[in-house]
Amino acid sequence: MNSLDVQKHVAAPSELAGRVIAVTGASSGIGRAVALACARHGANVILIGRNARKLETVHGEIEAAGGPEPIIALLDLEKAIAKDYDQLADAVLQKYGRLDGLLHNAGLLGTLSPIEHYDVPTWCKVMHVNVTAAFALTQVLLPALKKSADASVVFTSSSVGRKGRAYWGAYAVTKFALEGFSQILSAELEGITNIRVNTLNPGKVRTMMRRTAYPAEDINTLPLPETVTGPYIALLGPASRGVTGQQFDGQPAT
Ligand code: NDP
Repeated sequence: MNSLDVQKHVAAPSELAGRVIAVTGASSGIGRAVALACARHGANVILIGRNARKLETVHGEIEAAGGPEPIIALLDLEKAIAKDYDQLADAVLQKYGRLDGLLHNAGLLGTLSPIEHYDVPTWCKVMHVNVTAAFALTQVLLPALKKSADASVVFTSSSVGRKGRAYWGAYAVTKFALEGFSQILSAELEGITNIRVNTLNPGKVRTMMRRTAYPAEDINTLPLPETVTGPYIALLGPASRGVTGQQFDGQPAT
């Protein structure tokens, strides 16, 4: 077993060269930062998101930095139907013939509220975007992942997806679900494919989601998304070969 320390991993400049990596929620926050970092390390990035304008900005930033040209895949995880997923998978196979990395990063916080009062439509939406859409996207992209010599799927977890915490409702339940999903998928694919599957809890990061979840916190004390990308590169790239079914933390526990 590869004893990978994602927090200490230092990526080589061209560590992801030649790899095709898809990132959901690539429009802002951690997803945007990871997409930029993947391109900086040489990956062809597939920017998945629901907001064309924001994705075009990220596309432009990658081009301006001299990275390999990314592609934009518009997909609203709340509204997408089967044909939207199929179109995306067909486009990936047509353009690259394979997929080497898939980061499930997009997520919805929903509301923080006691279970007793949790709004049911909000619950359904958070479950759909965070879990069902991640399942559907993984399933439709499996043929492309199987075509890679060395593929990595990463699900974004959270500390509240590993130990339950009052009032975190649907969001926490979806993170527990992704942990389970990752273990199931990893067990199904281990030994018969070159696909590894792991989860990563990024830790506290200065993003819109964090600001919404902790309005009273001084967000300026938290690390910027750009500074927490190392563990993602470690898991999406060759450093994590042979590692599957594991849970990782992007930052030391506080
Ligand atoms: P942001 O709110 O900044 O980013 C969330 C991303 O998800 C955005 O790109 C957003 O797109 C996208 N998204 C939301 N809904 C949809 C949808 N229906 N279809 C497509 N994309 C959608 O949050 P973070 O960057 O903080 O979060 C990224 C991940 O990290 C999440 O999974 C979160 O749970 C996790 N995480 C974050 C922590 C933190 O401290 N920040 C801590 C632990 C985990 P758009 O730009 O269009 O809104």
